[in-house]
Order: sequence, then structure tokens, then C-alpha cells
Amino acid sequence: MLVKTTATHATEGSFPDEAKLKQMTARFAPVDINVDLSPLPANERLALHKLIDAAKIIDALFLRQVAPLNPTYLSALSRDDSPLGRARLHYFSLNAGPWSLIDENAPFLPGVGAKPPAANFYPGDATREEVDAWMHSLPSAERTAATGFFTTIRRDVNRKFITVPYSLEYQPELVEAAKLLREAAVATTQPTLKIFLEKRAQAFLTNDYYDSDMAWMDLNASIEPTVGPYEVYEDEWFNFKAAVEAFITLTDENESQKLVRFSAELQELEDHLPIDPAFRQAKLGNYSPIRVVNVVYASGDANRGVQTAAFNLPNDERVVAAKGSKRVLLKNFQEAKFSKVLKPIAVRALSFKDQAFVTFDPFITHILMHELMHGLGPQRIRVGGRDTTVRMELKELNGTLEEAKADISGLWALQYLMDKGAIEKSQELAIYNTFLASSFRTLRFGLTEAHAKGMALQLNWLLDQGGVTVDSDGRFGINPVKIKTAVTSLTTEIMTTQATGDYARAKALLARMVVIRPEVKHILDALTDVPVDIEPHFLNAE
Ligand code: ZN
Repeated sequence: MLVKTTATHATEGSFPDEAKLKQMTARFAPVDINVDLSPLPANERLALHKLIDAAKIIDALFLRQVAPLNPTYLSALSRDDSPLGRARLHYFSLNAGPWSLIDENAPFLPGVGAKPPAANFYPGDATREEVDAWMHSLPSAERTAATGFFTTIRRDVNRKFITVPYSLEYQPELVEAAKLLREAAVATTQPTLKIFLEKRAQAFLTNDYYDSDMAWMDLNASIEPTVGPYEVYEDEWFNFKAAVEAFITLTDENESQKLVRFSAELQELEDHLPIDPAFRQAKLGNYSPIRVVNVVYASGDANRGVQTAAFNLPNDERVVAAKGSKRVLLKNFQEAKFSKVLKPIAVRALSFKDQAFVTFDPFITHILMHELMHGLGPQRIRVGGRDTTVRMELKELNGTLEEAKADISGLWALQYLMDKGAIEKSQELAIYNTFLASSFRTLRFGLTEAHAKGMALQLNWLLDQGGVTVDSDGRFGINPVKIKTAVTSLTTEIMTTQATGDYARAKALLARMVVIRPEVKHILDALTDVPVDIEPHFLNAE
């Protein structure tokens, strides 16, 4: 989630002072990340520490990828012992550079200029048009390399553009990281982990990541590492070049078992969806694997600005075609965000009697169910005798409706499982109240993307149906009877719209419901001092 706040486009001389920097930093609540490593045998703990060391190399490498002068800024700041210098260094490390990510990349150090949209992937003196024209002029194979995930574009001695593989551009760092991955591979006795680490080490040296991405999909081990070049958002010119990151994590046994239990119920849930039986899937397809993990250490692209709470990888379409993609939920990050952000929101948003019901277990349970419900309900549909998909028919409205579907039908599914006795019924009020509090967390930064728009639709629907109530003092609460019918009726409405591919119906529904109403705004306005996110301190890595 990116936070939209108005940028203060600072000019020379108007950069934040120490007090202002501390205020900006305080938007990220510090939190100790400390995972219990005692279940790991000594050899696996050794492997884990090798991986943490590799991830630290990734951190420095990412800094260099973000901007050519980042290492220079960092060493200057490190030598500045003044209180202002220390405040700057702290905020620099939070943002992996001198630009405030949640303030639309506003620079907070004098003299650094705007954040370079080409990052450090293209020559600093080139324009986007030049590079684009050059890429188009190349024969097919060379163009594939030039536009690939794992190459930079530089100039040769004659100032002509050339393509440089990461294995060469970042050779010293990647050779060192590969060595550590291989040492971890020697230490572990878990076969799928050993194979992934060997293949990923190989990829660092050969620049061919395919086999190791395939091996990452097959991981089934207590240690679940994600390390390498992945996301392309730092390359604002073309979204071609992958930034390096590392999530060194341990599998969460408890939640993984919950997932297995829920997965066994999916076909039954599909068979009882509150829609015309003709719209239900007779046999659910294979769903993409989901892993629940606890982060021991995160670095590079995976540790700057607003922290990732879940991710979906790999991005290589060939791997996705062969094996699908894997969703990884970071449980202890979710927990930290829950306690530092969601709990304070609940205190301001919910009526006093309901606040105590906002707890972490229903929060993570609903997130799991949300992910699973993406696989249920109408997907491939028939409209006017044509075979088509919900996505094709609902076009730009699909994302909003699909996210709202996963949320609301996730509540419906949890109620079904409680009624059936498959999960503890005493959780009922906790599930609804926790969802209600989290709706304000999602709506907080405006109706800019699918999750927030989908949440506005849900909250307004639940208000209209009386499932959510507003006290005389403006606080929100749950009506325990009406919430159930309201959740069911919205599930029916969304899934029926999807099943019939009815664009006009979706358009009318969203036009009416994707708004921030005055009673909601009243709460949102009271949240300004609640932290935006967390700043993790990885105690296991110190
Ligand atoms: Zn979703």
C-alpha cells in the first residue's frame, strides 16, 4: 500500500529540520522483530545465519540500484554526528535513499534533486527516448536481453549503449552472496531448500534465474528464503529492471495447518455460495500455493518505506505458466502492523464495548480466507452465448469488485465454517469487529486503488443494511444479527454481477457506493496521529 499524502516539494533551504524529521520518522512505529529460533536444529540455524549474511549484501546492493549517488550520500551522512545528521541518517535508512517515499518521493536532503526515475539501471546522461529508440533498433535476441529483468544499460568506451548482465554489473556482491547461499545449502538437510539455494547461487553467477524460480515454487522447508532480483517498480522508466530484495523467513506451522484445514473446505464452500447454483464451479481448479511465514530478516527492496505484508512471486511469466505463482503472507509483520496501527485505529473508530473484540487471530484468519476466496466464485463465464471471463467483461471495474468479493465472501465463508462447527463460534464478534476496524485502515489514504475502493463499497453496504451502526458519538459498531444477512446479500450481489459479466450493474453499484460518507470521514479525520506503518528492528540479525 502506498500512502498518498500531499508532497511538500521542498526547495533549497526549506528542508526538514531535526524536529520535522523526527516527526516524519515517527509515522513508522518502531517494532522489535524477534522470531523464536529454538525449534531449529543447530545446522538449520547455521543455514539461517548464512542467509541473513547474504541478505545484508543485498541491502547494500539495493541502495546502489536506487540511485547512482546513494552510497556517497550514505557515507557523508554516516560521518555527520550532529543531531540533524543523525535524524537524516535514520530517515535515509527508512527510505533507502534521501527521498521520502510516502511523501511522493520529496527529497529531504539538500542538493540531491528529484529521485531519478531511471534509478541506476540506465546511463545517468541518457534520456528515456534515446534508450527506448535504441532498444527498438536491436535485433530480437539482443532486445530481449536489453529489456530483460536482470540487465543494466550502460555506455561502452565509444559512448554506445550496451547491455550488462547483473552477474557482471554486480559481480563482487553476487559472488559473495552466492558463496553464502552455497554454505547455507551445505548446512541444511532439507532437500527442497538445498536445491533452491544451490540453483539461486548458480543464478547469481550465470544470470539465468529460471531454474531457481522453479525451485522456489517447490520449497517445502522450515526456512523459506526469497532472495534475488524481483520487483520492477524502481525502474520508473520502463518497469523492466528488477530490484534486489531478501525475505529470510521461517514457515509458521500453526497458520499453515489452518490453511490446510480451510483448503479442505473450499469445494463445500463453493457448493453453498449464496448465488444461483448454475453460477457455482462444479469442480474448483488447483489454487496457487500460499505460505504463511515469520520474517527473521528483510533487506533491500523488501525493507524500505511501507513494509510489505504479503507478496506474490515469481514475476517470470514462463514460471507462472508452468507452476503458477506463490503467495507469501508475512505473519509477524501483519501482527506488528496490527498492534501498532490497527489497534490504535480501533480505539478511535469503534464503540467502547466493541474495541475489545479487535484481536489478531481473526485478523490473520480473515486475510487467509480472503486469499483463498479469490479462487472461488465465478471466473470463466458465458455471456450472450460467448465464453469469456469476469475480468474481460468487467474491465477496469474488475479489480475493485474482485477485492471486495474476496473480503466479503471471506466473512461469509468464516460464518459458514463457524455455523458448521469447523471453527470456534466464539470468534464471531471478534471476526466482524476486527474487519470493521481494518476497513478504516484501508480507507485511510483515499480511494486510490482497488482494495480501498472495494472497502468503501463494503462499508457503505453494511451501513445501509444495518449490519454496521454508528453511535450518537460517531463511533462505529456491529449489529450481530444484521451483519450476517448484510454480508450474505453483498456476496450475492457481487458474485451475481460477476457471473453475468454485467458491466453496467457493476458500474452503477460502484458509482453509488465508492464514496467516503461524512460519518466515515469523521473517523478518518481522527486518525492523523496514528502511525502509518512500522519500522522493524530485526533482533535475530544483530
Ligand atoms: Zn486480494
